[in-house]
Amino acid sequence: MTPTRTAPATADVIVIGGGAAGLMCARVAGLRGRRVRVIEHANRCGKKILMSGGGRCNFTNSGTTAANFISGNPHFCKSALARYTPQHFIEMVERHGIAYHEKELGQLFCDDSSKQIVKMLLDECADAGVRIDTQCSVESIERIDDGFRVRTTLGELRAPALVVATGGLSIPSMGATGFGYELARQFGHTVLPTRAGLVPLTLSGKHQERLADLSGVALPITAHCNGREFSNFMLITHRGVSGPSILQISSYWNLGDALHLDLLPQGDAFEILKEQRSRRPAAELRTTLGELFPKRFAERLCDIGFTSRPMRQFNDPELRVIAAQLQQWPLIASGTEGYRTAEVTLGGVDTDELSSSTMQSKRVPGLYFIGEVVDVTGWLGGYNFQWAWASGHAAGSAV
Ligand SMILES: Cc1cc2nc3c(=O)[nH]c(=O)nc-3n(C[C@H](O)[C@H](O)[C@H](O)COP(=O)(O)OP(=O)(O)OC[C@H]3O[C@@H](n4cnc5c(N)ncnc54)[C@H](O)[C@@H]3O)c2cc1C
Repeated sequence: MTPTRTAPATADVIVIGGGAAGLMCARVAGLRGRRVRVIEHANRCGKKILMSGGGRCNFTNSGTTAANFISGNPHFCKSALARYTPQHFIEMVERHGIAYHEKELGQLFCDDSSKQIVKMLLDECADAGVRIDTQCSVESIERIDDGFRVRTTLGELRAPALVVATGGLSIPSMGATGFGYELARQFGHTVLPTRAGLVPLTLSGKHQERLADLSGVALPITAHCNGREFSNFMLITHRGVSGPSILQISSYWNLGDALHLDLLPQGDAFEILKEQRSRRPAAELRTTLGELFPKRFAERLCDIGFTSRPMRQFNDPELRVIAAQLQQWPLIASGTEGYRTAEVTLGGVDTDELSSSTMQSKRVPGLYFIGEVVDVTGWLGGYNFQWAWASGHAAGSAV
């Protein structure tokens, strides 16, 4: 019996990964009249969008600039970000009647649910004639004369343009894989070392024991590391520390790097303590700190760092020493919680080998990399989605 052979399906563009960047790219290319196929291996698209922002998706940051990103080449993201701005995305959100609000520091969230952002992107893709196959896995990808041959569990596909939008390694339970990095290497690309970013830090030994029972306590701090500083809340966890200031600084921290916390970021600690001393000279240091910090945290500070006695018994030099300790509190982290809880992956496909205006490979014509798989990582606060939208738009406009 002769085997039946079906002709491979052809498209103009194959997008691998139906997440934030992939859906944006597919939509833009589809609107330009390209025949687009999206291949998504999970059972639905945009799972990370769904879980983002505590279910309300912090979909952009109105103050986005290149300074909010970490990359081997800090200039790389500028062109795409300039051509697809937060305002462009906001206009689409408003056109779809999605209510949103600014939480703090330019962070825009849906009033209702991140499901609305996924639905908006899928509706936009449908209007642009994009075909999306979920639960479809890629078996192999080869370069052929006129483009790429992609063998999938749903058959063979060919197209002159292939866009890799498979995201980073964070939250493997949501479908994250190292596929994009492997594919980049297969085509001769350099992949810069990857590590977890926007991730809680872990403590060990006595550093962990001192804080573990304070799990759930939160306080405003400024975290300093490698010349960077972030002011926001820190949350003590069972395993270490988290909260926005810690997540932000984690992206700049490597094992062994000095990391210190200003526990009184609201002002000059010496002046604050001096003021407390003149107001309540008979109060113990323990009581005074209890007014400046959550009570249990203040108690612990005294247990591990200071001898408590009435404030009037501290002279200025002694208060200066306490103030300096409070403003330069060393945090000895033993590691991070890793990809299991990280919001992003630092590192990735080296931007030196991509065009900053189109995201096209400088090595392999027709091959594009967008979103988190690229060595561009945003701060906490909607910047990572803005990069996904902007890089997806750049490639979608070029394919
Ligand atoms: C818990 C959490 C909360 C977050 N909250 C925010 C937030 O509020 N604001 C913000 O800006 N950023 C947030 N982020 C980061 C943001 O989600 C990512 O930066 C963004 O989704 C990256 O977009 P992407 O399209 O590159 O990758 P993804 O959105 O991860 O999409 C990649 C897609 O590719 C698919 N895929 C992977 N491998 C294959 C394969 N081999 N074949 C086919 N498909 C494949 C995946 O299933 C996925 O659908 C959050 C991340 C996490 C983990």
